[in-house]
Amino acid sequence: MRSLLLYGIILWTMVASTAAWAENRITGIRSGGNSELARLVIETSTEIPLSMLLLSEPHRLVIDMPETRWRVEGRSVTGGLETSLLKGYRFGNPAAGVSRLVIDLDGPAIPVEAFRLPPNGRGHRLVIDISQRGETAFQLAARAFNQQGNLPLKLDQPSPEQSDPGQTILLPEQRPDRANTGKSASGLLLPLPRPRRNDREPSRDKWVVFIDAGHGGKDPGAIGVSGVNEKHITLKAALELAENLNATGRVNALLSRKGDQYHRLRKRIQLARDAKSDVFISLHADAAPNKKAMGVSVFTLSDTASDKEAAFLARQENKADLIGGPDLDTTDPVVTSTLLGMFQRESMNQSSVLAATIIREFDGISTSQRGHRFAGFAVLKSPDVPSVLVEMGFLTNREDEKRLKSAAYRQDLMKRLARAIVLYLEENSSLE
Ligand SMILES: [Zn+2]
Repeated sequence: MRSLLLYGIILWTMVASTAAWAENRITGIRSGGNSELARLVIETSTEIPLSMLLLSEPHRLVIDMPETRWRVEGRSVTGGLETSLLKGYRFGNPAAGVSRLVIDLDGPAIPVEAFRLPPNGRGHRLVIDISQRGETAFQLAARAFNQQGNLPLKLDQPSPEQSDPGQTILLPEQRPDRANTGKSASGLLLPLPRPRRNDREPSRDKWVVFIDAGHGGKDPGAIGVSGVNEKHITLKAALELAENLNATGRVNALLSRKGDQYHRLRKRIQLARDAKSDVFISLHADAAPNKKAMGVSVFTLSDTASDKEAAFLARQENKADLIGGPDLDTTDPVVTSTLLGMFQRESMNQSSVLAATIIREFDGISTSQRGHRFAGFAVLKSPDVPSVLVEMGFLTNREDEKRLKSAAYRQDLMKRLARAIVLYLEENSSLE
């Protein structure tokens, strides 16, 4: 009797789920945006669970879902899209019970946000924002999706500003020839990408390495035993690192500052992300609570610090923003979506790989190595750029200060650092 009941439940579940699958239909697909940021809207009859994959050569976004029928009026199962970043789509059933929508991308673009909007009289709407982020970010995101496997993605709640007409443009209706240019209930709003600071795209036949010289301007950083300012040491080292990297002919080194300027930490992250950097390197030579502490450490981001001194250093560093006064900028480049959160975890893994490569190359330097350490440094929070902070030594230690003031020591350190960065990129990020 009991097994009969169980059998009945199983049968009922199967019938119910088959019935639900049979009802899954895609009823619309449209897109808007430009070559940097696009919004893809997929209209469905039901709230279909989905998983994503990113594939390269050529770059494409794969959206898998349970068996679904294509019922889009006026559009066949393959076709073009109206947005230059999204070249077209293909829909099919690669396996029994699985349906797949492939979006062909114009370059290494990744989904940065995905959410659902309730039916607006026609169907459920799945909204995916896709942003051109560079090859390293693409590969990082692809790895993050791989680790997720076929598990359905958690999606975000739409944010209030997504319906702010002042910030948005209207997406065309389903068919471009019937595009509705007025505002209507079936139109979708897309936040306009912020204007690029520099319209000239950096050449992608080179890696972009972003070098952040710690502190600057009204923030001197640590003060050494002889009175030297950390901000001057970090700038010298940054310029030397850039020279070494550029000399390889394979890297375009960018600097957070070339002179004595103050930047907030988030600005440093934003500059690196705007340039679609492949790697972010922050250079420091801080004060240690213990004057005897000396040597080189390589830090990556972590919620929990590896040791007390690491926690202290991160706390001190994160205070740099207070020097700038009240922060009126409300845009936050740091993780805001579930997808970016997923990429952030992979970014932290990749940062550890980079840190390990640097530590190997530092083997044999003329000071002690303090190894790979972790702490909550705000400047390392780029969700899609592997980021490390190199403490080149402590200015509170007399011997370290002497070394850091010596061009020969810094040159050796920066040569090794440049070599490690290129080794890491060769292994982990192919150039187009
Ligand atoms: Zn510092």
